Amino acid sequence: MRKPIIGGNWKMNRGTSSQTVEMLKVLKPLVKKIDNVDIVIAPPFTALESAIDFTKKTNIKIGAQNMYFEESGAFTGEISPQFLVSLGCEYVILGHSERRNIFNESDELINKKLKKAIALGICPITCIGEQLDEREAGKEKDVIRNQIEGSFKGISQEDFEKIVIAYEPVWAIGTGKTATPEQAEEMHQYIREVINQKYDEKVSNSIRIQYGGSIKPSNARELFKQENIDGGLVGGASLQAESLYAIIKAAVRY
Ligand code: PEP
Repeated sequence: MRKPIIGGNWKMNRGTSSQTVEMLKVLKPLVKKIDNVDIVIAPPFTALESAIDFTKKTNIKIGAQNMYFEESGAFTGEISPQFLVSLGCEYVILGHSERRNIFNESDELINKKLKKAIALGICPITCIGEQLDEREAGKEKDVIRNQIEGSFKGISQEDFEKIVIAYEPVWAIGTGKTATPEQAEEMHQYIREVINQKYDEKVSNSIRIQYGGSIKPSNARELFKQENIDGGLVGGASLQAESLYAIIKAAVRY
């Protein structure tokens, strides 16, 4: 059985040490006894160190929201994956739609970052998802297939098993418009099908695929009940410990 994983993507919304510790102070005791869901919080870079210090020896893991694919050099403003490793960062979100769309990140760039994250032992939560016009044109599956082909190009089966995928339909991110559990399940099933064709059934059955897009305590359980949905990547609702906890609880499989 795949272990569900809930990621909290704070985006650029909460970035000081005190704001971070304040939230984690509430979350830590709430989730203390949850051992069958992986919990990852991704604050901005400025809060990573305090988040990592505050969650040491707990079941809360810390992730970055992005990284560069080179380890050092003249790359002003970029963050080395090696810096993340030295901090104790265990996860990194790659290819988020905001990175793809606002900062023009391509599948090729995401692929380079992904390979570097795997090489350095950071678990990449890799986001894929179609835009509204692509869905309206009935092209969502083609888009997803292309993103899988591009972002995961040249990844061996052994390395692929170290990845988490987040399916995030762009039209559902931060819009309050969630994909229905059926729409999400259909796409998750399709992603497994493509992975099965690219690798094999063992990999497609074992890879964890999160759903992301306006998850709230009120819709989380229905989404996570779907056979192929292994938890979620949560933006807005991850900023408050209580709402994130409710979503984490909804991911527990009894
Ligand atoms: C996200 O940032 O990945 C996300 C899904 O955001 P929201 O939950 O706010 O839609």
